[in-house]
Amino acid sequence: MNSIEQTLSIIKPDAVERNLDNEIKEIFKKNGFKILKEKKIKIEKSEAEQFYKVHETKPFYNDLCSYLSSGPIVVMVLEKDNSVLANRELMGATNPKDAAEGTIRKKYGISIDKNSVHGSDSVENAKIEIDFFFKE
Ligand code: UDP
Ligand code: MG
Repeated sequence: MNSIEQTLSIIKPDAVERNLDNEIKEIFKKNGFKILKEKKIKIEKSEAEQFYKVHETKPFYNDLCSYLSSGPIVVMVLEKDNSVLANRELMGATNPKDAAEGTIRKKYGISIDKNSVHGSDSVENAKIEIDFFFKE
């Protein structure tokens, strides 16, 4: 069963810094995603800490939050059938070294931390993450 879903995507600082945001947005569009909302912002470390709270106990948490707040990011609401899974597939594995050919992280990712994009991992988290950035 297919269902129209929304997911949250972030183009991370390493990609925005290399001016890859338009190129990456084109990849989403070519793969059938509608970009319903988007904004380029820079967040505070405290906001990154809140966003990545699920990773609070992980050894990489502090560096991850410093990194996400280190420069401009582009946050987007993407829509497509089964967009959560479709986006995870298009992004590729967390570590660009393990990412499949043709995925965004394979093409642009520099390392496991500078892996160019974020995508929600479930429909439930997508709702929470979309609210985090776009709640009016
Ligand atoms: N990360 C890291 N070191 C690790 C694992 C993850 O720096 O050993 C970073 C990486 O940028 C990743 C983010 O933490 O994208 C969130 O980790 P998660 O396991 O949720 O991966 P994702 O859902 O982004 O693929
Ligand atoms: Mg994740």
